Amino acid sequence: MRIIVVGGGVLGTMHAWQAVERGHSVVHLEREREARGASVRNFGLVWVSGRAAGPELAVASRARQLWQSIGERVPGVGFRGNGSLTVCRTPAEVAVAEAAVAAPDAVERGFELLDPAETRRRNPALRGEFTAALWCGRDGAVESRVALPALRAAMAASGRYTWLPGREVRDLADSAVRDDQGDTHAGDLVVLATGAALGGLTREVAGELPVRRVRLQMAQTEPLGEALTTSVADGDSFRYYPAFDSSALEAAQAQSPVADAYKMQLLMVQRLDGGLTIGDTHAYAEPFDFDVVEPPYDHVTEVASALLGRPLPRVVRRWAGVYAQCLDPAAIVHRQRLGTGAVLVTGPGGRGMTCSPAIAEQTAEELGW
Ligand SMILES: Cc1cc2nc3c(=O)[nH]c(=O)nc-3n(C[C@H](O)[C@H](O)[C@H](O)COP(=O)(O)OP(=O)(O)OC[C@H]3O[C@@H](n4cnc5c(N)ncnc54)[C@H](O)[C@@H]3O)c2cc1C
Repeated sequence: MRIIVVGGGVLGTMHAWQAVERGHSVVHLEREREARGASVRNFGLVWVSGRAAGPELAVASRARQLWQSIGERVPGVGFRGNGSLTVCRTPAEVAVAEAAVAAPDAVERGFELLDPAETRRRNPALRGEFTAALWCGRDGAVESRVALPALRAAMAASGRYTWLPGREVRDLADSAVRDDQGDTHAGDLVVLATGAALGGLTREVAGELPVRRVRLQMAQTEPLGEALTTSVADGDSFRYYPAFDSSALEAAQAQSPVADAYKMQLLMVQRLDGGLTIGDTHAYAEPFDFDVVEPPYDHVTEVASALLGRPLPRVVRRWAGVYAQCLDPAAIVHRQRLGTGAVLVTGPGGRGMTCSPAIAEQTAEELGW
């Protein structure tokens, strides 16, 4: 088959990967000169720990397995199974962690409840004050800023992959697309993986989607000067992941006013150059701000410094990103057939970097590539 993939983010790239793996040829179009959407703005966290029990955990676990095997073949992806520590600083946070390790799927998630000494043995950079940490041995990370070009180079080596950046797709007819340079690309199937671009071509061919957009603020620091051996989250993160019943936490403990106002958690992962990617906020109401605001950065800096027991290195980059998220919390992705020749795949939300290898595999299996 000849498959036309539209959208150079991780979802489009993983669909291209699946197609090339299965012996098909791929033409891959992206409107920017390089992917600049959610897939390069994220933490690169392959986050299994917080996924809802059932299909969501199964997809995340399968995706983590795929990331690992892809990472072994394409070292430029930067996959490492570094695990994560969600650091608890109050009795209410410890209670959530205790409930998580007592759950029937705790082993599948690699959960362990650690005391401060064991936490520091696994991650010596955590020299701040805390009472416990939830270890998730299944979590991992990739290097979002460089993973996509590395994957494309590996696909190009097959001789069956063509990357066409700087081409916005304007029209879809059956299994062919027309780009804004007037060229038509015809295949046996079109995969539209256009991310959070819900207007334009997406609205014309698929209508209004059961998907909303979410905006996040992020930052990156100078190198830490030592290894942060695991990814790190704070207790507020329990509020944002379905695996944790955070009702007791919410009853016992209000978020700080800034964290509450900006719907925040702390997530922190070390880049391969030693810098720390930190975040995040969540904004759901459009129109979104076009600028980034400072109070959330003050908050994550304070929390991260408290966990590290030292000042956070200077922030050298700040940015915002927008992802598309299915309105149905049980839906892992919005997959919509557009006639017989095309399929639209979007809306994996804040787990899209994690789940995209398995989502693409499911698309291939459902469509019988
Ligand atoms: C700040 C932030 C942090 C996140 N952190 C994580 C994390 O740590 N772990 C995790 O699992 N998930 C995370 N996510 C979610 C994850 O990044 C997204 O779910 C995922 O990247 C979505 O991938 P995508 O390919 O659908 O979208 P995108 O990366 O946005 O890619 C869509 C692409 O389609 C292109 N496009 C659109 N329309 C056209 C057209 N007509 N013609 C040609 N090209 C077109 C766009 O230019 C874009 O490059 C985060 C998201 C954000 C914003």
